Amino acid sequence: MADNTTQTEEYVQLKLVINEESNKVLFAEAGKDFVDILCSFLTMPLGTIARLLQKDSNMGQITIGCLNSLYQSVVDLDKRYLWTDSIKELLLKPKNSSEDYCSTLKLNIDDSQPTEYFICARNYFSSECRSCRNISKSTYYKCSCGSRFDRSFFLKRFCKGFVNSVATFVITDDLINIIPNSAAYTTFSLLKNLGIITSSTKEMAVNVTKEKVVDLLKCALVSKSPLTDVFLGKKPSIERSRFLTCNAENSSTIQITIQLVIRKSEGNILFAHGDQDFADLLISFLTFPLGGIIRKLGEYSSMGSIGRLYKSIAESVENQYFISEEAKNRLIDPLLASEYKSCSSILPIKEQCLNYYGYYQSESYRYRSNDPFFITDKHYKDGGRYEEMRLHNNKNPIKEGFVKGPRTYLATDDLVIGPASPISASLLINRLQIPVDDLKEKNVTIGMKECLSILNAALTSTSALTNGLGHLLSEVMEEK
Ligand SMILES: [Zn+2]
Repeated sequence: MADNTTQTEEYVQLKLVINEESNKVLFAEAGKDFVDILCSFLTMPLGTIARLLQKDSNMGQITIGCLNSLYQSVVDLDKRYLWTDSIKELLLKPKNSSEDYCSTLKLNIDDSQPTEYFICARNYFSSECRSCRNISKSTYYKCSCGSRFDRSFFLKRFCKGFVNSVATFVITDDLINIIPNSAAYTTFSLLKNLGIITSSTKEMAVNVTKEKVVDLLKCALVSKSPLTDVFLGKKPSIERSRFLTCNAENSSTIQITIQLVIRKSEGNILFAHGDQDFADLLISFLTFPLGGIIRKLGEYSSMGSIGRLYKSIAESVENQYFISEEAKNRLIDPLLASEYKSCSSILPIKEQCLNYYGYYQSESYRYRSNDPFFITDKHYKDGGRYEEMRLHNNKNPIKEGFVKGPRTYLATDDLVIGPASPISASLLINRLQIPVDDLKEKNVTIGMKECLSILNAALTSTSALTNGLGHLLSEVMEEK
């Protein structure tokens, strides 16, 4: 295959073992750089994934369930319906709680801006200002000394991805096996076990560019053979994922009452009306990390081969191939970024606590470095060279949720969300050309079970409400 990589473009090398006859990748052999990229998919919030799916790459744009329409409705939502100006950005380019782990990836496809931290100008210019050693994540609040937080700096890159740099890994086409290529399980024994050493077995080296990584993410979400699809130039075999009903307990305190508008003859939900809690619930899906969703949906999630990737990492017993236990946990139990604290009641994903320490270099060292301030996850004790700073206790930017209330919002079956009005509802009914006597309204109260079920349906179908709330419709169907 022709390799179009230009000399300046960054790439990661990958060795493929292919079957020339069937034009299939049997497996790949990769080092840390590639496996880290694959792992990082699990840390990405759904909003980031939705954005990347729309990116043009070899594969073209790909839609997954209702994810694109949900994302697009936030793009289209007028800012006056949102509590603060920054919310839109926080939803369209959501924060990844493992940003520090992903910032050192050789090819990072998430082009969101890294989190900026701020110190006050007084702190920056005067080393005598001992009382204010504050670091803030926002310029909105003032430092305890009264100055504004207006000098920005970034997190020191201290995490080096997820897996060990000395290990090599064997990855099967369906991502179900990501196994360390150790003495106990060599490539050769894998070949032998699979009975695939034939005359058509060939080795092939490929350079994986950023564009290929975007393709790989797309294919991993819809296909059971992402490596073949991306590297042997096949169109991804999009599997219509089966929607499986979730049986989660309604254990949480969420109780949201909504009004469904149902088409009796078809038994489907056309749209739902609800207040801001309902809109917030649906919009919050964009903030959840992929790995966290797979963890919560468990066996019910069925997107391409990404669930297999999750499983293969979760079930790998050989922890020594990860740089730390923490690194592995970031993949199998990823946290919500601390900005989205209020969303943790919707989907029980823990939010990240900021266990970071800020430092600045003491006076005598300060002018030797252009970057005297940094923030890290470890205590620094270096002979008085650094002085510790305090993370300013910022108020949460999303404490009241995303959309403003009190007002009613409308969500269609494929999760196009917007402010509701009698006109918007009647326009929708007219457009769908549905006779009024075929419509029925029904008020229902939804809890955790329904939230998870809508989320699952949103990822696997274009009828998030009908599939997710199907169990609440039986009564209506009996009445007809
Ligand atoms: Zn200050």
